[in-house]
Amino acid sequence: MPSKSVILTIDQGTTSTRAIVFDETAEPLGSAQKELTQIFPRSGWVEHDPVEIAESAIGVARQALQTANASVDDVAAVGIANQRETTVVWESSTGRPLSNAIVWQDHRTAEICNEISDAGLADDIWSRTGLIVDPYFSATKMRWMLDHLPIPNLQGRAENGDVRFGTVDTWLIDQLSRGERSGRISDAPRYDVPHLTDVTNASRTMLLNIHDLTWDPDLLRIFGIPEAALPTPMPSAGTFTTVHASIFGREIPVTGVAGDQHAALYGQACFTRGDMKCTYGTGAFLLANAGANVDLFTGASGSGEMSTADLDEANAGLLFTLGWQSGGAKTYALEASIFNTGSTTQWLRDGLGILSNAADSSDVAVMLGDNAGVYLVPAFSGLGSPHWDPHARASITGISRGTTRDHIIRAALESTAFQVKEVVDIMDSRLRVSRRGNRRERVIRVDGGQTRNPFLMQFQADLLDRPIEVSAVDETTALGAAFLAGRAAGVWRTERELADLWRCAHRYEPDMSQSERIRLMAGWNEALRRTKTNFRG
Ligand code: ADP
Repeated sequence: MPSKSVILTIDQGTTSTRAIVFDETAEPLGSAQKELTQIFPRSGWVEHDPVEIAESAIGVARQALQTANASVDDVAAVGIANQRETTVVWESSTGRPLSNAIVWQDHRTAEICNEISDAGLADDIWSRTGLIVDPYFSATKMRWMLDHLPIPNLQGRAENGDVRFGTVDTWLIDQLSRGERSGRISDAPRYDVPHLTDVTNASRTMLLNIHDLTWDPDLLRIFGIPEAALPTPMPSAGTFTTVHASIFGREIPVTGVAGDQHAALYGQACFTRGDMKCTYGTGAFLLANAGANVDLFTGASGSGEMSTADLDEANAGLLFTLGWQSGGAKTYALEASIFNTGSTTQWLRDGLGILSNAADSSDVAVMLGDNAGVYLVPAFSGLGSPHWDPHARASITGISRGTTRDHIIRAALESTAFQVKEVVDIMDSRLRVSRRGNRRERVIRVDGGQTRNPFLMQFQADLLDRPIEVSAVDETTALGAAFLAGRAAGVWRTERELADLWRCAHRYEPDMSQSERIRLMAGWNEALRRTKTNFRG
C-alpha cells in the first residue's frame, strides 16, 4: 500500500480506455485497460457508445486502484486525458445520450466542410482557431447532429440549454459527477451537474477563439451552434468537479483534464518553447511548445487579419493549438497530425501478409543496409500534415527487378521517419529555433508503439540530425494528465519539479552524413510528388 498521495488517471482513447495510478515520483503503480467497441454504421462513419465510454472509464479506474494496491483514501486527485474532437450529445437533466458519439475519424461531414471552404470561410476560420477545415474537428459533427438526429426540436432544445454538447472530457466530467445507482450511471434528473471542458479540448472543436479562449460568436453563427449547449472552457489544471461518492466510495476531485496529445506534450515535460514530442502510434502526432504568445501564429500580435498568401505561409500545413493552460498562464503548441505511420506496418502484416509481426521489421531493415531507391508513401486515407490532401492514395515507387519484400518493409518504416522529418523542419522554421550558432542540442522526446523499433528510431535521429529520447514511461498521455492533476492538487508545485521526474529509457544519437540525408530526402520528395493530387511545387 503506497504511503503517499497517488494520482488516478483515466486515458480514454479511440480504441481503448486505460487507467493508471501514479505515485508522487511519477512511477506507475498499477493500470487497467478495456477495449472500446468501434461502430461503423456506414462507410466513412465511426461511432462510439457514450455509455460504454463512461462505464469503461469507471471500470478501469477501479481495477487500476486494485492492481496498484491503492486505497481510495490515497488518491489525491483524478486526471483525465481523452481522444480529441469526438463529439457527444446528451440530455442536460438526466445525462442520457441522445445518440452515439461521432468519432474524430468519421468523415460524414465532408460535404459540410466543402461548403464552408467553397464559401471562402477557411482562412477566417484558420485565423481564429488555428485549424484547417476538415471533418476531423467537432463543429461540423455538432451541426450534423442538429440537422440529422431524429429528435423533435433539437435546435430549440440546444438553444434552451436542454441538451448538452461535449467532447469526451466533458462527457466524462458530467457522468463522473452524477454518480451511480444500481450499478449504472444515475439518470435521475439533476440540474447542478457541471458542464465543463478544458481549453485544449475546446481548441479542437473549431468553435474556440484561440486568441482569447472563449467561444467565438462568429464561428457559433457560421456553424449554427447555440452557446447554451456548449461547456464552459476551463484551464487544464484546476478543479473541474468531484467524482460522486457512489463511484469510488468517497468524493475525489478531478483537477487535470487535457486532450491526449496535449497531455502527452505535458507528460514529456516539454515546458520550454521549441521543445517537441512525437507520439508514434497508428499515426504520428508531433507537437511543439510554441510559447505563450500567438504572434508566431498571426505574424502580428492578435487580430488575425491576414491575406491568403500570409496564411499559407504562416500555417504551412500545421495546426496551431493550445498546449495547456495552468492557472492564468497559457502555452500554445504547433501540431502536425500524420495519419499513417504504424498503420503501414499493420498493412504489411495484415494486408500484404509479408511480415509476421511488427517487431521483426527492424532486423529486416537493418540487414538490408539501404532502401535501394524504393519509397513507400502511405497515403492510405489521404495525407494529413503538412499536405492535407484527402484524395491522395498510397504508392510504392522505385521498384526494380532486384526489389524484394524486404525493401518494401524497409521503405514502410522509413516512410514514418520521412513524414516526421518534413514537419519537424517546418516547425523549426516556424519557431525560428536554429541550431546553427546555438550548440544547445535539440532533443525530440518520443513515445508510442513504433518507438519499440530500433531501426526506425535510429533512422529518425539520423534523418533529423538530432538526438531522440524514448520516455521511460510509455504512457506519457496518462502521465501528462497526472502531472496536470497533481499540480492543481498540490502534489507537485513547479514545472521544474515535473521536468526532474521525467526519465529516459533510451537515447538515439544521429550518425549520418549531410549528403546522405539530402539524397534520401530528394528521393522521398520525388515519391511524394508522384503521389499527391494537389502538388503545388
Ligand atoms: P495507438 O495508440 O495508435 O493504437 P500504439 O502506441 O499502441 O498506437 O502503437 C501501435 C502501433 O505501433 C501499431 O500500428 C503497430 O504496427 C506499431 N508497432 C508496434 N510495435 C512496433 C515495432 N516493434 N515496430 C514497428 N511498429 C510497431
